[in-house]
Amino acid sequence: MEYDLKFSITLSKEADLEGIEEEIKKLGNFELKEFRQQDNKIFIEIVSKERRAHEWALRIHKKLAMLLGKRRVGVREMMLNEYTIKIKLDKKPLKSVSIPFADLEFKDDVAIMKIVDKEEEFMRRNYVDRMIRLLKEKIEKQYYEGKKEYWQLLWKSEEKEPVWNGDPSEEMQKRGWIKLLGKGKWFYMPPAAAIIRAMEKIALQEVVLPLGFKEVIEPMHVSFDTWLKTGHLEGMPGEIYYICEPKSRDEQQWEHFIDLVKITKEVPTDELLKNLKPPKEGVVYAQCPNIYASLAGKTIGEDALPLLLFEHSVPSDRYEAGGKHGIERVDEFHRIEVVYIGTKEQLLELREKLIARYKHVFNDILDLEWRMARVTPFYMQQAGIVGIEEEEAKGTIDFEAWLPYRGDRSKEWLEFQNISIVGEKYTKAFNIKGQRSTLWSGCSGIGLERWMVSFLAQKGLEPENWPKSFKKYLAELPEMPKFL
Ligand code: ATP
Ligand code: ZN
Ligand code: MG
Repeated sequence: MEYDLKFSITLSKEADLEGIEEEIKKLGNFELKEFRQQDNKIFIEIVSKERRAHEWALRIHKKLAMLLGKRRVGVREMMLNEYTIKIKLDKKPLKSVSIPFADLEFKDDVAIMKIVDKEEEFMRRNYVDRMIRLLKEKIEKQYYEGKKEYWQLLWKSEEKEPVWNGDPSEEMQKRGWIKLLGKGKWFYMPPAAAIIRAMEKIALQEVVLPLGFKEVIEPMHVSFDTWLKTGHLEGMPGEIYYICEPKSRDEQQWEHFIDLVKITKEVPTDELLKNLKPPKEGVVYAQCPNIYASLAGKTIGEDALPLLLFEHSVPSDRYEAGGKHGIERVDEFHRIEVVYIGTKEQLLELREKLIARYKHVFNDILDLEWRMARVTPFYMQQAGIVGIEEEEAKGTIDFEAWLPYRGDRSKEWLEFQNISIVGEKYTKAFNIKGQRSTLWSGCSGIGLERWMVSFLAQKGLEPENWPKSFKKYLAELPEMPKFL
């Protein structure tokens, strides 16, 4: 690495700089290439190899304020004029890369990042570090394009003969049990609703409540503050449904909009947008971020660990690709999400208990053909992070069921839920502490539509074909309303 920074500092008036340059040089390990006063500005260029040059600039600014203060000269704002950073790369980019606020050039395995004309804030807020990290991350990603995750089978059930090979969503639509209302958003008529609720009851009574999870109820809106902490706004901004508040409730403000609606019987989109504020929230994507937000800054007593909570009141909304076909990938779905916070040991133990309970449900109640796999983002696999004991403990286990209507069991499987342990990622992000212990956390998302599709795809829509153990939870289906 080499950092070459040209910056300037404004003074309240032209100053006597006698002896100052020497003092600045003494500050540390950098080369002072320029130190010159012109009117009431000092122009400085420094080159450093170890510490980042903008850090030195901040120190020089402070030192000057002290030295010149004694000479009754005020030291004002700094400006970044030109910052050139040479970054040695482990990997060369495979195609062009760009980073905001900078121009990039590549020579062999060195990236040259050039930044010009920025305010003092730019240096104070450490943007440069994140830009360098982002550059490396973007190059790394080019090597794994298309390879999303590494999949490793942990367990699978015996093969089970399905009672049919129809598509449950299609069949339910034919019968009028489900009706599409907008992209990927379904209306569930009584028979379909009853099946979803039966799934929910099974999950609650056989898994969630026996393990001691306590219910919480959260808002349907998630603030950007929360998603900045969880990383959702970096990870999946294109999958979020954003929420806009009206600029005002005042009817006068809306008069023109209302008039247009009354006359045209259409929605005047431009007029509507004029009356909305920019979004600062979105609809719940997964329930866990709001749960962490509710615990932000708290210290949890040792005897309250592990903290076990669940939420099943708010649906999750995601702007998915497609969404017109069936209920296996929808834009609004219903989940129970359980969240656990505790020591590493507590969470590892809990994961085993969760798996045992889930196994009981899928084997003994739903009687599914299903399997479990450890999934690892491809970059972690490649970086050799996996295999380290600490990282083995973290990670995600996907639960998948065979969907006979899609094809043979060699490949047509659907993830219907998962279990994750994320280590300190969220407890750190939300500053959630233990009295003495270091806290880890994790969550498990129980997708009720996915449970339902998995079950119906293997067992069909006729209750007489359903396993007895399931019929204990749903003996018969409510009737459909009669339509003429
Ligand atoms: P996928 O890879 O299928 O998109 P995901 O990795 O985005 O799933 P998570 O965010 O881990 O899913 O959410 C956990 C659970 O939420 C899933 O196992 C599934 O049960 C459910 N789920 C996620 N997306 C959908 C969806 N679009 N429709 C229905 N259920 C979903
Ligand atoms: Zn979660
Ligand atoms: Mg997804």
